[in-house]
Amino acid sequence: MRPVLYQYWLKIQSGKEIPQFDPETGKERGWLEDPGIPEKVYLLPFSPYMAQKVQETEQTPVVADDGTSEIGIPEWEIDPNGHEIKVFRRGYYTCFDYYVCPCGTAFQWFGQGPLQCPNCGTKNEWYCDVCDRTVDDPIFLKNGEVRCPVCEVNGAPRGLLKIERLMLVEDHDLRANQVIHVPGKFEIEVGPEYVRVKVL
Ligand SMILES: [Zn+2]
Ligand SMILES: [Zn+2]
Repeated sequence: MRPVLYQYWLKIQSGKEIPQFDPETGKERGWLEDPGIPEKVYLLPFSPYMAQKVQETEQTPVVADDGTSEIGIPEWEIDPNGHEIKVFRRGYYTCFDYYVCPCGTAFQWFGQGPLQCPNCGTKNEWYCDVCDRTVDDPIFLKNGEVRCPVCEVNGAPRGLLKIERLMLVEDHDLRANQVIHVPGKFEIEVGPEYVRVKVL
């Protein structure tokens, strides 16, 4: 499993354009292969063609900017101004879960308010096999038991069956941000959804 890449660097050095990935072959070039201080450094989105080449040649998963993305992939231009500079990747592995409703809606729930599909209102339900009906107001016990309030009052506590309509799905996200690092000055980390600037 390799982290997904959203941008590549391109530097202008001694008037020459040096991209991280060869636009024809997709082959990666190391930042240190061309020592020296570049005049300009860019972070750019991949074109669909280049993304395909990089995935074939380097087996690095890449998201191309085909112009349809809602968030858009940011472009950056840095003028090193004679300072030493380097660009490297910083990877993240994030775990998260979400629910999927039979209507096709996927949504996250953080434990606040009822667990309910925001699109069609579907909920998980509780069923009592003694009363033979679904129960809207079950008794939730601390130990995780869920009981029928009617049977409880009748003195014959009964556990409820969960009718699971909303399915819990566990997922993860593996991606790499590009970090523009100017030693002793600043660092700019560019991800698909955010940019972090840190003064060093
Ligand atoms: Zn729904
Ligand atoms: Zn009951």
